[in-house]
Amino acid sequence: MLSLEEAQHTILKAIQPLAAEQTPLSDALGRVLAEKIVSAIDLPPFDNSAMDGYAVQSKDVAKASAASPVSLSQVGTIAAGGNITSRVESGRCVRIFTGSPLPSGADAVVMQEDTRSDGNKILVLDSVKPWENIRFHGEDVKAGATVANPGNKLSLGQISLLASLGTRSVAVTRRPIVGLLATGSELLEAGQPLAPGKIFESNRIGLSLLATRSGAIPKVYPLVEDTLDATVAALETAFTECDCVVTSGGVSVGEFDFVKSAFEQLGGELSFWKVAIRPGKPFVFGRWREKFLFGVPGNPVSALVTFFLLVRPALARLQGTTNCLLPTHPAVLAEPLSNHGDRRHFMRVSVDELGNVQSAGIQASHILSSLANANGLVDLPPNAILQKGTTVSVLRWD
Ligand code: AMP
Ligand code: MG
Repeated sequence: MLSLEEAQHTILKAIQPLAAEQTPLSDALGRVLAEKIVSAIDLPPFDNSAMDGYAVQSKDVAKASAASPVSLSQVGTIAAGGNITSRVESGRCVRIFTGSPLPSGADAVVMQEDTRSDGNKILVLDSVKPWENIRFHGEDVKAGATVANPGNKLSLGQISLLASLGTRSVAVTRRPIVGLLATGSELLEAGQPLAPGKIFESNRIGLSLLATRSGAIPKVYPLVEDTLDATVAALETAFTECDCVVTSGGVSVGEFDFVKSAFEQLGGELSFWKVAIRPGKPFVFGRWREKFLFGVPGNPVSALVTFFLLVRPALARLQGTTNCLLPTHPAVLAEPLSNHGDRRHFMRVSVDELGNVQSAGIQASHILSSLANANGLVDLPPNAILQKGTTVSVLRWD
């Protein structure tokens, strides 16, 4: 049986990023860059004023104060977006605004609040140092600098930076289409009457939400009954229409578990089907041509946990993300947590705003109420008791 890390490694090694596509910057939040972006310009593009005020020669006003103001004659005005017309000579100033280009000759800006007008003269009531209140060209980004790299998942801040460089669109990796199949002859769609022995299907919705959050495009298929033929047909349709397929249920050792045999009948190549974690021991990974099968167990908690631990990194890899593994957050146990089993247990926990961790409730893999209380998982080693006060890393899914 593979360890979680071996399973993740096997999956990430097998998968290559999808092709790139050009996307308008406005649609690029959370998408993964497929190109290096080098700035063609300096940012700011020109020296400009950080204040509304007057462009001056700093030496003229080095000794200015409210008690002994310095009088300058105003020789022009430069609005933001305006052209530089007049040079600032000694004894003169130019009216200027935040973002206006700095006129030649000036080496500082006196803020408006430190001036008073006196007829056609400007009285400066405070001194400025050389280059005070000036924003220099290239001080933010220099032309030729790399501002983003392939594999970067574009953040709000990066998109704003790219916009300020005049970028209209970027090459990002295509979002994978993920087919979601739920197998089980006991399953019903919501809205059908609950019949004896039947249950409402609850995996596809959570898996599709996690897929969307992982940057993929989920495609939900109708329920699949537990027969070899139905499973082969459903897999074939989904593989034809999607980049990868996630099935739930039917991956154990029972006579009605058809996912592995159906996949092989279709020509799929199984890579592994067991991972040493709880919940979720049966987990199938396989390849069908250039596409991939992820068979998660049917128990709803196992389905979501294995998707989170093993499919989400795969979707990140398909999108070309540099770091595909899950982010963890340090937190402190507010009560002891124990694992008496011989497999690592990813325990459902709830973490409050202060970082205190508590068990989210009963941990059996069919219990959904504790899933509803949870906002993350703590990785508990086999046969271990972690005491209250222990610092743990939590895999957060909220
Ligand atoms: P299986 O992995 O097919 O052996 O299913 C394990 C357990 O999960 C059984 O109790 C199934 O009824 C249940 N189960 C399987 N698939 C689903 C599903 N899509 N929604 C809710 N429960 C499911
Ligand atoms: Mg089943």
